[in-house]
Amino acid sequence: MEGPFQLAESVIDAVATETAPAVYLIRRIEETDTYAHYKARIGRANGSALKDELKKWIGSDYRVFCFEYVEDNLTAFYRQCILWHDMGGATNKLDNEQHPELHDKSKILCPICSNALDNSAST
Ligand SMILES: [Zn+2]
Repeated sequence: MEGPFQLAESVIDAVATETAPAVYLIRRIEETDTYAHYKARIGRANGSALKDELKKWIGSDYRVFCFEYVEDNLTAFYRQCILWHDMGGATNKLDNEQHPELHDKSKILCPICSNALDNSAST
């Protein structure tokens, strides 16, 4: 991943220069009376939509972004799944409470949890 960069229009235009699918991470600081910590959201951008996806979050609580270009939309989905698991999505450590999904509801499965389910079913 490249970054973190400031989540601002001029920065997005300057660094997100390729027209390839991507995964991205945006972060905000969550504060309570006693503590402050980073909360992150993981997203993916199909085709060349990374700039537009990132710009949707300008003006929100999110302040910084990281991103990584990948070769195709399917790889973007896989990377998003892996990051979601790695960063504790299943234990509510991320702002994405839901597991990443493909929009077209195809039969492509998460490389982490679906593989594990398949393995346990076959033994
Ligand atoms: Zn999964």
